Amino acid sequence: MGHLLPKTPYLEWLHPGVMMLRAWGALRAQAGHSALGWQALSFDGGVFRLKGTGELVRALLVLRLCSWPPLITHGLALQAWAQRLLGVRLSGAVLRASVYGQFVAGETAQEVRGCVQQLQGLGLRPLLAVPTEEEPDSAGKTGEAWYEGNLRAMLQCVDLSRDLLEPPGLAGNVLMQLKVTALTSPRLCKELTSWIRRPGASLELSPERLAEAMDSGQELQLSCLNDEQNRHLQASLSRLHRVAQHARLRQVQLLVDAEYTFLNPALCLLVDSLATRWNGPGEGGPWVWNTYQAYLKDTHERLRQAAEAADRAGLTFGVKLVRGAYMDKEKEVARLQGTEDPTQPDYLATCQNYNRCLELMLTYVAQRGPKCQLMVASHNEESVHQATKRMRELGIPLDGPVCFGQLLGMCDHVSLALGQAGYAVYKSIPYGSLEEVIPYLIRRAQENRSVLHGARRERELLSQELRRRLLRKI
Ligand SMILES: Cc1cc2nc3c(=O)[nH]c(=O)nc-3n(C[C@H](O)[C@H](O)[C@H](O)COP(=O)(O)OP(=O)(O)OC[C@H]3O[C@@H](n4cnc5c(N)ncnc54)[C@H](O)[C@@H]3O)c2cc1C
Repeated sequence: MGHLLPKTPYLEWLHPGVMMLRAWGALRAQAGHSALGWQALSFDGGVFRLKGTGELVRALLVLRLCSWPPLITHGLALQAWAQRLLGVRLSGAVLRASVYGQFVAGETAQEVRGCVQQLQGLGLRPLLAVPTEEEPDSAGKTGEAWYEGNLRAMLQCVDLSRDLLEPPGLAGNVLMQLKVTALTSPRLCKELTSWIRRPGASLELSPERLAEAMDSGQELQLSCLNDEQNRHLQASLSRLHRVAQHARLRQVQLLVDAEYTFLNPALCLLVDSLATRWNGPGEGGPWVWNTYQAYLKDTHERLRQAAEAADRAGLTFGVKLVRGAYMDKEKEVARLQGTEDPTQPDYLATCQNYNRCLELMLTYVAQRGPKCQLMVASHNEESVHQATKRMRELGIPLDGPVCFGQLLGMCDHVSLALGQAGYAVYKSIPYGSLEEVIPYLIRRAQENRSVLHGARRERELLSQELRRRLLRKI
């Protein structure tokens, strides 16, 4: 079909779709029988041929900007300054054409739909995330009304995730991200964590007990909490239950985010409670997944224990495997409290731990089939290679219980190569208004400073593709 298109390169600026169709045929031909068997993927940027020149230029400019540390450190102050200098409308337009356009799907359901359709055309799937912002220790935004508002946003996100991919079954599994501290206060999670960590932790803090309270709606009084904390726990359990119930009804799998180590044990308790209720035999899940951070020293052991406990209880098991986003804060908290740093000593140790966790999970998936599911959530080319190689060796199907996850606007050379070869690839997509999303983006950028800084290879590949197009025109 490509040869029927006229050779008018300037059209490519106006119609990325024209380009996409032309390159699609060529790449499909290159991929050969990739959907039928494994072949080593090439992350050489060849897949950028699928993208319009305008998109490539924006990606290059934005990734270059984001590698400039002061922009990330003083992002909010710079935004306020730009608003004063240019006015709200003009500064908003600049952001929309740059950072917001690169990393965010849009504000309205229609805009999100447009973005998702474009991704689907490239063989990628959406993993919607409601952007919510709160410092773990902040005193503001702690009223129940704020959490109820977040609940409404999560329920809408479930519907949007499902509606974007109707009819069911056509587009594979529907997944969305869920941040527990958007529905319950970090203070309560901190308190629960301190009780869970005590030797001989109370039997009151069992997932089965919390699952029963969630399901029955009966009042729960934990002796370790005061009246106010018990009331907030009750309301939080009800919110979590309503999201999971709605997600189960609409057949959307919930991938719960991991956060800081001073919250994670409480988050795990809540996730285990949801899993007890929704990942049971006959439910066809896993509907509720947990996230494991390889930069923590104890992750491999916790993952092994959790997988075995799920197997013993006859539950399905879903894992999002990440390296971890909060390293600087973890180190700082450990230093201030004089406790052992929970994170790995260096990057190499984190990578080795990621590989060990990956191997563990892929072995479980190979043994248990779709009862055990995994998202390899990483931009790291080595990890992605390792996962695809082991999937082939273990006989795990390409579009089965293992999928891949990257952030929207990042590492497209990896996502597109995976998608073109027939793997299930999800792009984590925040959406919402500029005012809501920009602070969220700046925070994520601060947490992922090393990743943005390390996007050097992606920038080189983008430049290489732009140079290739320019030379073709001369
Ligand atoms: C779909 C998706 C969902 C995610 N969900 C979560 C989540 O729920 N919770 C969460 O915490 N993060 C989450 N992340 C972010 C993730 O943890 C990483 O921060 C990010 O993906 C970068 O890791 P990488 O493997 O992609 O890239 P790489 O560049 O290979 O790895 C960078 C990571 O290596 C680790 N690292 C870097 N330097 C050192 C060092 N000196 N010592 C020890 N370790 C080091 C850090 O974890 C750093 O983020 C998610 C990412 C994606 C794509």
